[in-house]
Amino acid sequence: MSPATLVRTPAADESPLDEAGAAPAAAVKRYAIEARGLTRAFGKGALKTPVLKGIDLLVEEGEIALVMGPSGSGKSTLLAAVSGLTRPDGGKVIVLGEDLWSLSRGKIDRFRLRNCGFIFQGFNLFAALTAMQQIQTVLKYVGLKKAERKAVAMETLVAVGLDHRLHNRPDKLSGGEKQRVAIARALAKKPRLIFADEPTSALDGENGRIIMELLRKSAKEQGATVLCVTHDVRLAQYADRIITIEDGRITSTNADPASFHH
Ligand code: ADP
Ligand code: MG
Repeated sequence: MSPATLVRTPAADESPLDEAGAAPAAAVKRYAIEARGLTRAFGKGALKTPVLKGIDLLVEEGEIALVMGPSGSGKSTLLAAVSGLTRPDGGKVIVLGEDLWSLSRGKIDRFRLRNCGFIFQGFNLFAALTAMQQIQTVLKYVGLKKAERKAVAMETLVAVGLDHRLHNRPDKLSGGEKQRVAIARALAKKPRLIFADEPTSALDGENGRIIMELLRKSAKEQGATVLCVTHDVRLAQYADRIITIEDGRITSTNADPASFHH
């Protein structure tokens, strides 16, 4: 392996130069996610509590970015603000070149349907549906024809190692298997953006590792951008870049993974 292949992904605020000192064309940064000055408070009057205190966040296309911070630091609120779930009080979110919060609610929903996959701690699967049906349902909303829905659902479940679980409902699946169904459901429509909120915290260490490697591999193969928020320090090793958040503020945009010992 040449030393060049070991060079880490440059941080957003660095401008990499090639050996001749010229900026290569590929160095022109394209951000999949660009958030500026995000603020959000909860409560009213004297009880009003700021939760996001002016957050800037840049994630490059194809990057797997991890936002790490303690419980209550604002991670879920931040993820909701950049993914079109909850409107921030202030600031701007540009995703895939769209000024997200300037769009109508309907346009935001269509944008999310077309471009975003979501993975949550609690899996959020439908109790009455088999693994195949969970995914076929999503693909129906995206507009795929019936035969195509079946083929894609099967292919995606096989890719996450669930070929033996295609027709099982959630109550017959382990936690790790449920999360793999949820990942397959998020990836099946080949979204350009994947948002994950504590995707491994209901899982043991081994299943957490499988989930992160799967997410990483699938995203790299599909060229998707992944924004994952977590308080689980064990996930540090799977990210291209670690961003840290504390009490509603970003404290580092490129933290050293080795600093997260467990
Ligand atoms: P994290 O995901 O890092 O644990 P959250 O973004 O969920 O943090 O929450 C940050 C803070 O905002 C917490 O103190 C939480 O209690 C508060 N909070 C989050 N959502 C709401 C809400 N809908 N109403 C009131 N307070 C909230
Ligand atoms: Mg949270």
